[in-house]
Amino acid sequence: MSSNNKEKKNNGKKRVAMISVHSDPLSKLGGREAGGQNVYVAELSKELGKMGWTVDIFTRLTRRRTKKMRRAANNVNVVYLKSGPHNHVPKEDLLEKLPEFLGNFLEYKERNKINYSIVHGHYHDGGWVASQIKRVLDIPMVQTFHSLGHVRHRALEKFGEEHIDMEPFEERIKTEQEIMKVTDKIVATNPPERKDILRYYSFDLEEKIEVIPCGVNLQKFRKINKEKARKHRNIDKSEVLLLYVGRLDSRKGVETTIRALPKVIRDFSKKNKTVKFMVVGGKIGKRGDKIDIKEKERLLGIAKELGVEDNVVFEGKRDQEKLKNYYSAADIFITAPYYEPFGMTALETMRCGTPIIASNVGGLPYLIKNRKNGLLFPVGKHNSLADRIIKLENDEKMREAVIESGEEMIKEKYGWKIIANDMAKLYQQLI
Ligand code: UDP
Repeated sequence: MSSNNKEKKNNGKKRVAMISVHSDPLSKLGGREAGGQNVYVAELSKELGKMGWTVDIFTRLTRRRTKKMRRAANNVNVVYLKSGPHNHVPKEDLLEKLPEFLGNFLEYKERNKINYSIVHGHYHDGGWVASQIKRVLDIPMVQTFHSLGHVRHRALEKFGEEHIDMEPFEERIKTEQEIMKVTDKIVATNPPERKDILRYYSFDLEEKIEVIPCGVNLQKFRKINKEKARKHRNIDKSEVLLLYVGRLDSRKGVETTIRALPKVIRDFSKKNKTVKFMVVGGKIGKRGDKIDIKEKERLLGIAKELGVEDNVVFEGKRDQEKLKNYYSAADIFITAPYYEPFGMTALETMRCGTPIIASNVGGLPYLIKNRKNGLLFPVGKHNSLADRIIKLENDEKMREAVIESGEEMIKEKYGWKIIANDMAKLYQQLI
């Protein structure tokens, strides 16, 4: 069948409108607002495309483009819609721009005579647009939140340094509540997220929630020769390489790992080992992002106070294709967030055969069973983190068991193909 015929056949049947307002699945990752959601939308859509669904991903136009549509994969297109100015707008300020986004979506749909069988909203901005589309077109809707206002606010209040302004959260939470009322199904990416939705929003939502996790790209992420990977990054044999990969957001808790360093360095020096903590992520180059650079400076300031600045390296953001080199080179991957709805980097490091230590928060304890496929430590407790690092580095038997168990779990459950299959089943139930 020609691709044109296939498109026609899919007009209305097995055709999804993905609404991902602030997350362009084709944008570079690792900057302030380009992380997990971009990956989720891109990978899920690509797999759905392979399964014969047609997927149109709608995202905001953030710069002048001559082409307003780009092909992302087989059967998958990204459509750029004008919504406010042609530049970056912080996602907190996007709500008032959404009616324009909605109007442009409807105009695009009419002009191209497309019928969608389902709309899938992402985050509360995309969820608002998707719920209006559902209302106007009378089609079923699925919503993935990626992050919840209530939970994020609580985490900031508990661990943030400055006074937290509640006003933007009130608007966000109200929008989330409205979306939850309207949508047919809510996809929670793990049981803890499901629990948070019931507890902080409404117990009446029980029937609406389906748990479908995030996945990992099994081709992009795989183990490569450790020695080669280390050589590539100039890592000496005697050096213990600790790694973080992710956005440079203070809620990611990179600070906790820096605070754990003095104890770890002291312990390892007894065995003539040195320690390097590599931070991959953040737009911190010459033409970087002011907020990312400020966060890097803040973290560096803490490292200086503790006298460990020579042990910390800020690499800046890296393309996903390169990350297997970093994961494979590292001895231990550490993610120490104060709030983490899912934590895709946990899957990526397990896939690359590098053991993980993570804070016991959000979705992480769902992915990591302590001492089985990783180690958990209490949020923000740098001394406990240091103890776990020392334990994992010194206990070769535990290390091997943790790595093996992590690799098995990924192969069994977390390829995007499996995840997209579950999502497609959910769509089919509704259309
Ligand atoms: N990432 C990347 N380059 C970087 C930093 C991060 O490609 O320099 C990717 C990483 O591989 C992961 C995603 O960004 O897939 C971050 O997802 P995660 O769930 O850890 O965090 P979120 O961004 O959702 O808070």
